[in-house]
Amino acid sequence: MRAVVLSAPGQPLEVRDASEPTAPSGGSVVDVLACGICHSDLHAAAGDYPTTLPVILGHEVAAMHPLLGPVLVYACWGCRQPGCWACESGQEMICPNATEAGLFRDGGYAERLAVPDDRYLVPLGNLDPAHAAPLACGGLTAYRAVDHTLSTLHDAASPRALVIGAGGLGQFGLQWLKMRSDAAVTVVDASAEKREVALQLGADAVAAPGEVEGTFTAVIDFVGAEATLVTARDHVHRQGVVVVVGLYGGTIPFGFGTVPHEARFMTSIWGSLDQMHDMVALAQEHRLHSPIEVIGLDDVPAAHERLHSGDVSGRFVIVPGVTA
Ligand SMILES: [Zn+2]
Ligand SMILES: [Zn+2]
Repeated sequence: MRAVVLSAPGQPLEVRDASEPTAPSGGSVVDVLACGICHSDLHAAAGDYPTTLPVILGHEVAAMHPLLGPVLVYACWGCRQPGCWACESGQEMICPNATEAGLFRDGGYAERLAVPDDRYLVPLGNLDPAHAAPLACGGLTAYRAVDHTLSTLHDAASPRALVIGAGGLGQFGLQWLKMRSDAAVTVVDASAEKREVALQLGADAVAAPGEVEGTFTAVIDFVGAEATLVTARDHVHRQGVVVVVGLYGGTIPFGFGTVPHEARFMTSIWGSLDQMHDMVALAQEHRLHSPIEVIGLDDVPAAHERLHSGDVSGRFVIVPGVTA
């Protein structure tokens, strides 16, 4: 089959023939209908994550299963070993011995994909596979981050949420917040274009960095730089919650006198299989905005270059068989 293969970190991705995957016991080989390109794929290609090479990247996969029909693939596969507290509690995305698709196992930049367990396949129903593919990581990551804020928002008399960063994940986060809470949502982004998109998606207010006013019950930082963490700290209400999702790598001091009293600061990573089921059900009920640019397998190396330079407005989605 055709696939996009990472053979050496920092080297261009190779579009070439790869061996056909075989169905593992309890799992399936599925035909890839669409695979989103996630920003973390760039880190994987650069060799920032330890893995065994060669590997086929891609963890945002919508696929066709012979019996289930179109499915979204839950890709944060844990070790699934007896005694693993993370896997046994349904939180495979924080399994210390993860085996996720597109990093530790071959992923979706290909015509076909082996899935180790059929319970990782979530039927898509009426959702369009190409638009739904980014839900598998971008959508799910934002969904879990919003989950962490809901009890705090529900307890507040006048809940207010601040979304930092209006790129792909921030746009999902804003939409999940509006669907799942009564919070008034402010979105902060340096780009006037993205602030306009946020207003179209239902933001109650937008602000440029440095122009945020007041305090917020919950803050979700989809950037994770030092400057955005400072914004989160300066604008979270006492007893509020700050959820950091972005992998920019910023840090701020933590302790008495440096953060508002009893505010909680936490990171959030990807999402659970249960959350993926809930998210897909929610997406089926609502009109979700998820801008994409469809490309073929041959276009993936160039798409990675364009992502490096920031030259993209929505998510790149690979549809095998599409030619440029
Ligand atoms: Zn991802
Ligand atoms: Zn595990």
